[in-house]
Amino acid sequence: MRTDICVVGAGPAGLMAAIGAAGERTETSLLEANPNSGCKLLTTGGGRCNFTHAATIDELVRAYGKSGRFLRHSLHELPPEDVRAFFAQRGVSSAIEPDGCVFPRTGRATDIREALVREAETLGVRTRCASRVTQIVACDRGFQVDTQAQSVVARCVVITTGGLSWPQTGSTGDGYRFAAALGHAVTEPRPALVPLITRESWPADLAGVSLKGVRLRARIGGRKVTASGHLVFAYDGIGGSAAQDLSRALTDSLTEQNSSIPIHLDLAPEVGETVLDEQLQNEIAGHRKKTLVNIIATFLPKRLAVTLCHLAGGAADQPVNQVRKQTRRRLVALIKATPLVVTGTRPIAEATVTRGGVTLDQIDRRTMESKVRPGLYFAGEVIDADGPCGGYNLQMCFATGLLAGRSAARSSSSS
Ligand SMILES: Cc1cc2nc3c(=O)[nH]c(=O)nc-3n(C[C@H](O)[C@H](O)[C@H](O)COP(=O)(O)OP(=O)(O)OC[C@H]3O[C@@H](n4cnc5c(N)ncnc54)[C@H](O)[C@@H]3O)c2cc1C
Repeated sequence: MRTDICVVGAGPAGLMAAIGAAGERTETSLLEANPNSGCKLLTTGGGRCNFTHAATIDELVRAYGKSGRFLRHSLHELPPEDVRAFFAQRGVSSAIEPDGCVFPRTGRATDIREALVREAETLGVRTRCASRVTQIVACDRGFQVDTQAQSVVARCVVITTGGLSWPQTGSTGDGYRFAAALGHAVTEPRPALVPLITRESWPADLAGVSLKGVRLRARIGGRKVTASGHLVFAYDGIGGSAAQDLSRALTDSLTEQNSSIPIHLDLAPEVGETVLDEQLQNEIAGHRKKTLVNIIATFLPKRLAVTLCHLAGGAADQPVNQVRKQTRRRLVALIKATPLVVTGTRPIAEATVTRGGVTLDQIDRRTMESKVRPGLYFAGEVIDADGPCGGYNLQMCFATGLLAGRSAARSSSSS
């Protein structure tokens, strides 16, 4: 089979790349290993799909960190407001939550997937599901893309096979292999946005306890890093958006053997230590017959209150009128900065996204075309770019996907 553009992998980046290419009136094929497109998309945002983040391009660039500068061009091609407009024009209106996260109003990830699949169909994209690509080789007409059942010869190829996280959704790292075989350097994939493993065993006693609006702090190479959001205790550490966002800053240091990074958990970031101490004293003065744990439990979940009392060296069931000033002060200090030592992360298969991938200095940021192999393009999680929790990763996939698809189409029709 012959085609102008062959897109490999029908996740959010691949579907958008195919839409971008076919929208330029170019013959486009999309090959997907799974029986259906966009499997991972259905799991996003807990099934609600946080598909972009309401922010300016400068804010987005800052949020992506090291890869931000590279992504600027694609973000201009498809900024968050255009992503929202794209879906709204296809019947999926969205709502912005107070923290900037954007979800479809229906709260259904499937609506996002269906809108992409329908648009690709409308534009005439030839989608072949259950077609796992086994190799991509350069040939005199461009590239030969082999699946077990057929070979596709294309002038341009867009690789959008994702990373290594959640491999059960199809992202098994094939794109890294294809990129390497075609002369690209691939930065070692590591887990990002992933739960953290702690040295302390007390989080296990609290497994399942979930908190909103906490802040985590760490120091990496002399630089202070913080992450805010929700946190959930697990049998071997901490998860939730705050822990996952912090993992982005920690993951590179944690790959070294025997590494351990001290962090602090602020359970009440909205109030300073002095105010918190006053609040605690007022609570104690008003309820002198209560136990220490019941006083702390007016601020925090009871199981966590028990643990904090133990960590502060106080007896949880002690009447508060017998609690020493020193213990109260220690409790306040713990609420503001519970110490934990991070010794690792959960495996990449459990990470929300993959850090690492096809190195950015071999990709032209204005087109997403390979600088090593003209006619070859990359988009989405397969490249060495990742963002924090909050819709940044899908935003990056849509923007780089559209730019890659359109650029491939323009280059194919001019050759
Ligand atoms: C649980 C979970 C929740 C998430 N929630 C959010 C969220 O709310 N907001 C957000 O912004 N991000 C979220 N993410 C991250 C986001 O889903 C990913 O960044 C995004 O899906 C990556 O898109 P992609 O198209 O690059 O890759 P993928 O979505 O991984 O798609 C790659 C596709 O390529 C196919 N493929 C792979 N190899 C081959 C091959 N050899 N031949 C043919 N096809 C192949 C795969 O089957 C797959 O369909 C979440 C991730 C997870 C795991």
